[in-house]
Amino acid sequence: MHLDTLAPLIENLQSGRYRKAVITTHHKPDGDAMGSSLGLYAFLKHHIAEVQVITPTDYADFLHWLPGNETVLIYEEQEPECRAITEAADVIFCLDFNRLSRINEYGEIVRNARGEKVMIDHHLEPENFQQYALWDPKSSSTAELVFHLIKHYFGLDNVSKDCATCLYTGLMTDTGNFQYSNTNSLTHLIAADLLEQGADHVGIHERIYDVFTPNRTKLFGYCMLHKLEVIPELRTALIFLTKEELEQFDVKTGDTEGLVNLGLGLKGIVLSVLIIDRTKMVKMSFRSKGDFAVNEYASKYFNGGGHRNASGGASEEPLEHVVQKFRDTIKDYKEALLAI
Ligand code: 5GP
Ligand code: MN
Repeated sequence: MHLDTLAPLIENLQSGRYRKAVITTHHKPDGDAMGSSLGLYAFLKHHIAEVQVITPTDYADFLHWLPGNETVLIYEEQEPECRAITEAADVIFCLDFNRLSRINEYGEIVRNARGEKVMIDHHLEPENFQQYALWDPKSSSTAELVFHLIKHYFGLDNVSKDCATCLYTGLMTDTGNFQYSNTNSLTHLIAADLLEQGADHVGIHERIYDVFTPNRTKLFGYCMLHKLEVIPELRTALIFLTKEELEQFDVKTGDTEGLVNLGLGLKGIVLSVLIIDRTKMVKMSFRSKGDFAVNEYASKYFNGGGHRNASGGASEEPLEHVVQKFRDTIKDYKEALLAI
């Protein structure tokens, strides 16, 4: 992380050179994507006349309570308006992603827009489309990077209660409640600062995690009872879901969030995989323990990537083929999986 390289950007911000800003984040945004975007929004609106958060797609209902959510535009649903705002922006903040393909068709609009691009992110292998970068793959979350930016250049007092609430949400969700290996003492110090600035950790936790619909709870139960497959010789757990099953439980955006963790909760399991037949493609989620680099596996076989212990991928092949490909290819990693 090189905060100092952002000095010219901050100068432009403080001198009033930027009149219009867009903040965008990856498709199907998660807690960190929305938390960091709306956290930055809560801060930037005091410095830039017009600030607009644009997401490429919709996102889970359990993120809709975040302060500022009512101002968000969704590109897929309001394409002409989002295009016009993006083309007119002086500066475009790209949060929690580093390749424009992660924001689908909206990516080319951002690429061709005249505004300066700022990438703030913690994923590996950046594409380098931006003028300014705050990039640190060791950072727990993009929310953490936004926090550093504000605190370093403007001081902790400029983290408002709304800003703190959004950033805490990003920090909490991307660290799995401060349990993953991306959590360290600095993460807790930042969390402490955010609590000091007014984040209500109990309320945030309840609004993110204790909001299952009956259908979502039944889907989890169904997966535990009928779909969770354990491959003990590979210390691996697998769940796959067909289109019919998604319909049966009326699955909405965000309803499968956390499902992949069921497998990882089993004693001795070090790799958990969730494969879902979505409308346009088959999506995969991978979670691992220890030094099993699941992002490398996802990149090699499923056009994916992410973090060492939490990655995703996608395929346009039929679900059965994808599941079979997983079963076939993962066998080659037996030694590595048993060594953890
Ligand atoms: P999830 O399983 O929660 O969808 O994603 C876990 C992590 O993998 C996230 O950090 C996300 O950015 C990354 N990821 C998910 N899907 C993809 C994908 O298709 N391509 C790449 N490069 N990363 C992905
Ligand atoms: Mn993130």
